[in-house]
Amino acid sequence: MSNLFYQAKGRRPIGTRAEGVYIWDEDGRQVIDGASGAMVVNIGHSNERVLAAMREQLDKATFLYRLQFENEPAERFATALAERLPAELEEVFFVSGGSEAVESALKLARQWAVATGQPERWKIISRFPGYHGSTLGALSVTGYDLLTQHYLPLMTEMPKIPAPTAYLDRDGLTMAERGLRYADMLEAKILAEGPESVLAFIMEPVGGATTGALVAPDSYYARIREICDRYGILLIHDEVMSGAGRTGKYLAGDHWGCQPDIVALSKGLGAGYAPLGAMVAPERIVGPVLSSGGFAHGHTYAGNPLASAAGLAVLEEIDRLGLLGNASDMGDRLMAGLRELATRHPVIGDVRGKGLLLAAEFVADRDTMEPLAPELNAHERMVELAFERGLILYSRRTRGGRSGDHFLVCPPMIVTADEVDRILEILDDTLLALERELGLPNA
Ligand code: PMP
Repeated sequence: MSNLFYQAKGRRPIGTRAEGVYIWDEDGRQVIDGASGAMVVNIGHSNERVLAAMREQLDKATFLYRLQFENEPAERFATALAERLPAELEEVFFVSGGSEAVESALKLARQWAVATGQPERWKIISRFPGYHGSTLGALSVTGYDLLTQHYLPLMTEMPKIPAPTAYLDRDGLTMAERGLRYADMLEAKILAEGPESVLAFIMEPVGGATTGALVAPDSYYARIREICDRYGILLIHDEVMSGAGRTGKYLAGDHWGCQPDIVALSKGLGAGYAPLGAMVAPERIVGPVLSSGGFAHGHTYAGNPLASAAGLAVLEEIDRLGLLGNASDMGDRLMAGLRELATRHPVIGDVRGKGLLLAAEFVADRDTMEPLAPELNAHERMVELAFERGLILYSRRTRGGRSGDHFLVCPPMIVTADEVDRILEILDDTLLALERELGLPNA
């Protein structure tokens, strides 16, 4: 009997080895990691150069406490990271994960407001559905009732606006018009809450698991920036999943030239080699906080030399292997393949995403976009059937939102054309099996 528990007690196969885009279990069975873990292992498993950089650091020092010592890997990593971000984003605060990065962003924003004489600003508007982490602060801006409902007395529920699920709308508007309509919901919410009380708006520029790689219409992004500026509200991008290159640019927001005031990163930053996250902000926000007595926030493991050495080596590998370009090219190939699968599998109602952050959504009826009945549990069965066929997928049902079951296909950014084609073959076979099992129509 295991002493471990997570969401529940349950047996999963024991993973014993991982290399490139593959994982092996204790019986020696090989599976393709089509989810990069949980969209984490962006540069693939067991990258030799990253391991070598970590081994080298292991022999020097694994932990130096940031308030007692500077350390060279953390300094170099911060500089290398800032170089890859839009010009103003240069003040780097390291943490050990995505929730910590989001918490740090929320707390920095609040301290900035207090430090700049705007103590009445505290509300953080976010989107529904959306996910920003599992700690109580991050949960308060998370729009996913399955995760938040138990904790309401402990957390402050923050105002939410609908995520831009424009693909579901049947309103006769163009996508550009819909993008503006969704963005303007932010302005309406700010006005309803009282603009002087609103501190920030947080969003995932390309959605993660709760929305299934939701991409807003192009017009959305600039309008959101404009509205935040109009009311002096900070724009926080949660790029925990979409950042670090997964969408084909280092930040997903870069696709729209949309610059946030604060960005949260994790997952692909440490790429599975070390627990790592970062919150990055401009001097105009960090400066007033530091000169008003300092940022009253921090985590013990932050910026430790071993994790930093790993993170720096990951960044260098992204450049050396040209992984942004490959994520973009292989993302196009995978997207084209998913769209082709949708022509033969009517259960797929929508295919979306950017680069290698891609998802397909199941529907009962493509014309109305009515979701599949929840009791079919289609997304979980999809994952299980794919796993039996040698492919790991990530899946969710968005409860409380308008959309239904979806699965994400997010292999590491080192994936080759042959491997993409193999993933598509397995998906085709898996969809057939799912349709047979659930009695779904197949064209
Ligand atoms: N934000 C987003 C967009 C995420 O996808 C996640 C993790 N799935 C988090 C925050 C939380 O990150 P972590 O699990 O590392 O705390």
